[in-house]
Formats: sequence, C-alpha cells, structure tokens
Amino acid sequence: MTNSVNLNVIGTINSPYKQKFAIPRQPGIVTAAQGQLRLTGSANNAELVRGLEQFSHIWLLFIFHGTQAQGWKPLVRPPRLGGNKKLGVFATRSTFRPNPIGMSVVKLDQIELCSTRQGFTEPGSTGQHGTGQKSSQVILHISELDLLDGTPIVDIKPYIPYADIIESAHGGYAQEQPSSNIKVIFSSAALLALANCNQHYPTLQSLIEQVLSQDPRPAYKQQSIDDKIYGMSLYNFNINWQMLDNATFNVIAIDDNVNQ
Ligand code: SAH
Repeated sequence: MTNSVNLNVIGTINSPYKQKFAIPRQPGIVTAAQGQLRLTGSANNAELVRGLEQFSHIWLLFIFHGTQAQGWKPLVRPPRLGGNKKLGVFATRSTFRPNPIGMSVVKLDQIELCSTRQGFTEPGSTGQHGTGQKSSQVILHISELDLLDGTPIVDIKPYIPYADIIESAHGGYAQEQPSSNIKVIFSSAALLALANCNQHYPTLQSLIEQVLSQDPRPAYKQQSIDDKIYGMSLYNFNINWQMLDNATFNVIAIDDNVNQ
C-alpha cells in the first residue's frame, strides 16, 4: 500500500488563454471562450467517448500545470475577499493545492473524429505506396472554459444535472457570481484590427469584452481606478487596455504576434 498514485494524462487543452493573467476565475463566466481537448495516448480512441455526445456539459479534471512548481500553503488569500483575508486551502478553489488538481464544468459543443496520416513510407518499401500510416485523432470542442493553453487533462465525466445541481447549496463567501458593471470600449485602431481578423476569429471581440468586464486586475486594485496600460494574450494576439473611469476599460491595441 502506498500513499501516492500515478495518473495518466488523457488529453491536452488548446485554449485562447495563453497566460494565467485574465483567465476567468471559474468556467461558465466567459461564454465566448472556445477551445479543444485533444485526447492522447491510449485515451485517443473513439470508443472512450461513445455516448458522450448526449451530454451538453462535461466535467474536466486537470492538472494546474502552470502553477504546480510553485508548491502550496495551508492558508491562501482568495481574490474574492479582496486578497487580504486568509482561508484554508480546502475552503478555496486556489490553484496552489496539496495535489494540483482542478475541476471545471465546460460546454461540450461537438466531438470530432479526424483521420490524419502520420509519416510517409519510402517509395519501394513495404508501406502502402507512400501514403503513410493512417491514424485518428479525437477532438472535443468545448466552450466556456477557464483553462490555460496546454492544460493536461486526467479525466472527463458527463455533467449530470440531477446529481450535480444542488438547489439548496450554500456558497459561503462565493454564493453569487461576482457582479461587474464595467463597460468595454475599443479604439479605432483596435476596431480595425478586429475587422482584419474577423474571418478567422469571429468571437474575438466578445471574448475581449467578456474577459475585461470581469476586471482581471489584481484583487487589491479592484474597486479602484488606475491609469496603467495592461496587456494580455488571447489566441496569438497581444491586447492592451487602460481604464478610462471607474466603469470603462478602453482597448487601445490588438496586435497579432504572428504577423509582426
Ligand atoms: N474551475 C477550476 C479552476 C478554478 S481556479 C477549479 O475550481 O478547480 C481558476 C484559475 O485557474 C484561472 O483563473 C486560471 O488562472 C487558473 N488556471 C487554469 N488553468 C491552469 C493551469 N493549467 N495551470 C495553472 N493555473 C491554471
């Protein structure tokens, strides 16, 4: 009998959130966030997801790989409490936990099975006339996620409303979704950049609006005005914004890192 367990990663997340800053604090808040979960290794098999398409939402259990190396402490300061009150780690959804395991309910939009060809056999060898080996990839298209790009997934479970919704539950200090009255406006340069990438990123504007209306600034800055120019990464874009007054964020620039 041992006190440790080994988990196998069953898939990896592709997410528009390329860094921790500005990721919403829970799933379901930013509905314009879309991503994919690519199954890997022996889990990359259509049989494992047979029947899953009947469910609108799934639980993802994952590893907080981006903060794992920083360890954990018994007490943490939830941003929800302004970042100045300490609670036990198990009374919070902090990423710094004894086991770096996260859980999120996300929307399951589609399950895709793609055929890909891997490698190429040399002409004249015993391969299939140079066509390479056929393999398939299972991709779960998901949305409303709160996950960093590259997040390793260790389990998927269907969301079952009768068991998972508890109408009478008490949510303690986090009973309600944080309210926000922040309005997001765009400079003409930012609007032009959005128009230029609209074909490939039709939801980018809504994503920026929804992410910023959560006020992603550090907890100690919330409810206060500052004139700092903030930056965040979404997809391959670097986005700069600044506060105009206590209820308005102005998106100054949207730069495409790939086409620079
Ligand atoms: N819904 C999850 C996560 C809540 S914490 C749970 O309750 O367990 C949400 C924060 O996790 C986000 O703000 C983001 O910054 C962070 N996060 C998401 N994916 C992560 C990852 N792979 N590594 C480290 N932090 C991550």
